[in-house]
Amino acid sequence: MVQSSVLGFPRIGAFRELKKTTEAYWSGKVGKDELFKVGKEIRENNWKLQKAAGVDVIASNDFSYYDQVLDLSLLFNAIPERYTKYELDPIDTLFAMGRGLQRKATDSEKAVDVTALEMVKWFDSNYHYVRPTFSHSTEFKLNGQKPVDEYLEAKKLGIETRPVVVGPVSYLFLGKADKDSLDLEPISLLEKILPVYAELLAKLSAAGATSVQIDEPILVLDLPEKVQAAFKTAYEYLANAKNIPKLVVASYFGDVRPNLASIKGLPVHCFHFDFVRAPEQFDEVVAALTPEQVLSVGIIDGRNIWKADFSEAVAFVEKAIAALGKERVIVATSSSLLHTPVDLTNEKKLDSEIKNWFSFATQKLDEVVVVAKAVSGEDVKEALSVNAAAIKSRKESAITNDAAVQKKVESIDEKLSSRAAAFPERLAAQKEKFNLPLFPTTTIGSFPQTKDIRINRNKFTKGEITAEQYDTFIKSEIEKVVRFQEEIGLDVLVHGEPERNDMVQYFGEQLKGFAFTTNGWVQSYGSRYVRPPVVVGDVSRPHAMSVKESVYAQSITKKAMKGMLTGPITVLRWSFPRNDVSQKVQALQLGLALRDEVNDLEAAGVEVIQVDEPAIREGLPLRSGQERSDYLKYAAESFRIATSGVKNTTQIHSHFCYSDLDPNHIKALDADVVSIEFSKKDDPNYIQEFSNYPNHIGLGLFDIHSPRIPSKEEFIARIGEILKVYPADKFWVNPDCGLKTRGWEEVRASLTNMVEAAKTYREKY
Ligand code: GLN
Ligand code: ZN
Repeated sequence: MVQSSVLGFPRIGAFRELKKTTEAYWSGKVGKDELFKVGKEIRENNWKLQKAAGVDVIASNDFSYYDQVLDLSLLFNAIPERYTKYELDPIDTLFAMGRGLQRKATDSEKAVDVTALEMVKWFDSNYHYVRPTFSHSTEFKLNGQKPVDEYLEAKKLGIETRPVVVGPVSYLFLGKADKDSLDLEPISLLEKILPVYAELLAKLSAAGATSVQIDEPILVLDLPEKVQAAFKTAYEYLANAKNIPKLVVASYFGDVRPNLASIKGLPVHCFHFDFVRAPEQFDEVVAALTPEQVLSVGIIDGRNIWKADFSEAVAFVEKAIAALGKERVIVATSSSLLHTPVDLTNEKKLDSEIKNWFSFATQKLDEVVVVAKAVSGEDVKEALSVNAAAIKSRKESAITNDAAVQKKVESIDEKLSSRAAAFPERLAAQKEKFNLPLFPTTTIGSFPQTKDIRINRNKFTKGEITAEQYDTFIKSEIEKVVRFQEEIGLDVLVHGEPERNDMVQYFGEQLKGFAFTTNGWVQSYGSRYVRPPVVVGDVSRPHAMSVKESVYAQSITKKAMKGMLTGPITVLRWSFPRNDVSQKVQALQLGLALRDEVNDLEAAGVEVIQVDEPAIREGLPLRSGQERSDYLKYAAESFRIATSGVKNTTQIHSHFCYSDLDPNHIKALDADVVSIEFSKKDDPNYIQEFSNYPNHIGLGLFDIHSPRIPSKEEFIARIGEILKVYPADKFWVNPDCGLKTRGWEEVRASLTNMVEAAKTYREKY
């Protein structure tokens, strides 16, 4: 029998039980007992579910109360001193490291005030991990035994599991030096950390574990030589340690071939590779295995919600069997299923035709098992034919295919993605038209999403108020925002986005080609979960999406009103994409749909239009090379398709945030004005890089994540700092990002100070 294996299961619970209990714990509504009870229930449910589905190799230690990388930092005692000094319980230390902790002193507890560790995107997924943070004083040692406890917990249920931990090379490489030890290179800690790994592995072995999954996902990145060499050191050390279970080294989310030389011949029992993302690595990785090594074939997609095509999956695994023999092949999910929603059967509102194409984590368990059975020669004819019918239905459906859209994509040419004139000529035309002062002031789009707004939106969704009533309400909110901006003297106004639940969902719901779940939550970080829309078919715009609100806003002011849209890459990145056409095609379709919207806005008299692309950086392929340059090309092209149909006098803005931006990546978008998150950037060299940016730019002046109100003097000082290296005539004045999560009081005070500071500089220049 060929074995089936699941690399990890979502840990949030089918109905977000983990979020509910952790948030209740944080707010003091429930105690540790309740928190741990819910955690245990989720783990047990997950194991039982997998067992019942017939999965042979089930993971343990895939559960976490916050993040699996953070768990490891706690376990290995990589805890900066600022967290240990409060002598908190382990779970509270974990949360303090993950999200910071601010607590007043009580009779029984000391006051605590500590910020969180850095949080970073987990490769190219929408999951974020807490960055291991090392200093010269870090002393690795086993601090508890979570993986052993969870292994034993499953065993008690009669379920044998394969514990999973992030491997030593990835763990160190994904970490960083703490501010007191900036000269420390994390990978140099390898020799110190290996004995602790060995100790953990021996403990797992003593508890009964026969094999352990060690994740080394960094194998899909461009790695410095020192890091490549670390694999040999690490795995030879571990293989020679005493009482070690069989090691399964797993990588996912890409192609390992550029690092294959560093893992070839390592003394490990099995390698797991992701053949959903990189089937083209097959021949080379197979050739690199030693004669005993087993290959775990990641063939059921852990990153998306589409049903696997069984005939393709079976054929792929059969290829592996032909090369290696049945005993040396395992059928597996491509990665942990953490990145998929829990259970499709909880979707009651999804169109049944579309639902038949989906597979969430629970359904993927069956998929792995069916493929393993099929290649073992068991009779799964029924399952195969049901699957074939679903695949065929999706391929041929009118929902998937829209000939008109496909034709439009094919006819895209240079002209469609270039503005009528180059920037200098547009700038002159726009200067004349808008007559903006030096240091023009604006905001990024959203204003506080108050309770009142949420209540009214809810009432409208539930049918408790009519569309007219809701409309009147939205108009009154827009008017409030417009009057406020006029009052404090902003130059380019926005309507405040009160009608939007979310910057992607709002547009997705109005575009053809999207589907939505009611319970398809996926962990983004800690207790933050997202419910991504799904691109199910060719995308088009049946009707205007934002024109009504923007036109109303423009009608009540003489100042320039900025229309506000979400860009193609951001819509795509924050959705589950199709896997039957390329992301490029999907981005271009979104670009075309948005082009219609941009043109309609212009025709209706909205002549400043911002197309937000906060996700443009996170879409960047993990490795440099062809794929990355292709991405940058189509990302820019789809943006330009959306924004190039307008007159020279129409001013196109864009906005970026969430990650360090390379100004070179955004040049090709050719937006007239961009605004970027910048308030935490102090490095003058980094600021300097932006001075070469040819068009105009607003380097975000204050952090919108914090309730803190910067004074006028602070704004003046900050602008002064930037002006040392950045030219005044390209300088826009704006916050870091939208203001939706802030309160009105802070917004009023911060923006007033910001505008006053801009006026001060206008007098000087
Ligand atoms: N226009 C959006 C807003 O202001 C942009 C949000 C974002 O970049 N994340 O809310
Ligand atoms: Zn932003």
